[in-house]
Amino acid sequence: NTDIQSILNKLGVKESNAAFSTGSNWGGESNQEILKSFSPVDGKLIAIAKVAAVADYEDIIAKAQSAFKEWRVIPAPKRGEIVRQFGDALRENKDALGTLVSYEMGKSLQEGLGEVQEMIDICDFAVGLSRQLYGLTMHSERPSHRMYEQWHPLGIVGIISAFNFPVAVWSWNAALALICGNVCIWKPSEKTPLTAVACQHIISKVFKANDVAEGVCNLIIGDKAVGELMTNDGRIPLISATGSTRMGKAVGAAVGARLGKSLLELGGNNAIIISEHADLDMSLIGAVFGAVGTAGQRCTSTRRLIIHESVYDAFKEKLIKAYDQLRIGDPLDQNNHVGPLIDTDAVAAYLDSIQKCKAEGGKFVVEGSVLTGEHYSSGCYVKPCIAEVKNDFKIVQHETFAPILYLIKYKTLDEAIALQNGVPQGLSSAIMTLNLREAEQFLSAKGSDCGIANVNIGTSGAEIGGAFGGEKETGGGRESGSDAWRAYMRRQTNTINYSNTLPLAQGIKFDL
Ligand code: NAD
Repeated sequence: NTDIQSILNKLGVKESNAAFSTGSNWGGESNQEILKSFSPVDGKLIAIAKVAAVADYEDIIAKAQSAFKEWRVIPAPKRGEIVRQFGDALRENKDALGTLVSYEMGKSLQEGLGEVQEMIDICDFAVGLSRQLYGLTMHSERPSHRMYEQWHPLGIVGIISAFNFPVAVWSWNAALALICGNVCIWKPSEKTPLTAVACQHIISKVFKANDVAEGVCNLIIGDKAVGELMTNDGRIPLISATGSTRMGKAVGAAVGARLGKSLLELGGNNAIIISEHADLDMSLIGAVFGAVGTAGQRCTSTRRLIIHESVYDAFKEKLIKAYDQLRIGDPLDQNNHVGPLIDTDAVAAYLDSIQKCKAEGGKFVVEGSVLTGEHYSSGCYVKPCIAEVKNDFKIVQHETFAPILYLIKYKTLDEAIALQNGVPQGLSSAIMTLNLREAEQFLSAKGSDCGIANVNIGTSGAEIGGAFGGEKETGGGRESGSDAWRAYMRRQTNTINYSNTLPLAQGIKFDL
């Protein structure tokens, strides 16, 4: 495939078959196990990656530990300067990397480019933050004492990422972890190793130009088994894992058992409440983009619409019309709205969910199906569909990572909020209303129980400035903006006595 080859050349990826890289070197010779990356766009095999064996893993850990000793003493603003250069390198490679993301993962080119833009944005954010890793100063109860807190790096940060944001999630973690003084080991999804290799090339060049020690940012290719090596490893104080709730429960338990720290970013089951006071045209765009964008494979995809009974029928008709106009096909062709699912397993899960929904009494107003024919040869293209359901259907309580949208009717706002909150997940939520009382109730303590709650925008498409993450089975982690950086550091409280005596706290007397 000449196109992809020229993109790889632009990105400097010459060996796409390496198992892992530390710094700028490639290796991983000790294992013969491989994994293959197929593009869901056209079904072509685009990369063969060697899976890291235990010996490779040990090598990476040793390099990371040694690099940490150097990296942690570089002043944070100087580390920020290197992250700034990484952001610039991403700017230079935005088109090529965005196209590769689109081709390997299957999201639209616009979204692939948007994903790289998010990487650039988090670098900019991290550069500023590198001069703002503030701790508090407290007044001591003892005379001539000073008390303050400071933040130190943790050591190795393990990053385990999902296929659907194959590069951005790594950068959210890495940019912050790096300015905080940590080193990283990244295990990308086994479904998207090639984009990860490309990212490693980009950052390695920047490190090399700055004489940064090898082992500050490491890539390790493998599946769940490699992830498990990381989660059980006491040498990795923080594991930041993004993926399914099933994975998060396993990772949380393994890291918890060794009393390590975990930052979990798991599945969502996101709803938009469409009130009788909503701007229905605006709501339509938010709902349709939220439900079909990235073919329903965003953690923040809109899965449920909770619609007021007075506008339910009108809005349903608008949705049906809009779905009729969706163009499904090659995501690199900008005329298309919807690309493929990641693989044929995801297609099987989509079909299974449709069946389960029907078995529970769901009524499809837009039917789903798998597309066949010349343009759909990968077998990964499906038709976005819409079903009228009850919120307590088992299938509605579950996150299906596909473009299936559920419609639920409500009478009162209290009922709508209860429905919105009435799922095990708690990632993103939204209300469409022009009524101030409704909006404020939705955002209040008795409103949405999610980590993200929006008014008059949909559930998907967060900006990096805010802390990103969710509650309940979404895992409770926060990444990206606001003070999410604190998760990547350890807090130390310091008390300094500059008097001539040693008074004890709480007035305790101890004389010798
Ligand atoms: P997945 O859970 O199948 O895999 C995610 C990653 O975890 C992969 O790298 C995988 O190899 C690894 N993994 C799986 N089991 C593991 C284990 N027991 N120990 C260690 N590592 C393990 O998820 P996926 O299909 O790649 O991604 C889709 C899921 O990710 C959806 O549920 C989606 O909502 C979620 N997601 C959440 C966010 C968020 O920020 N909340 C963002 C993106 C995706």
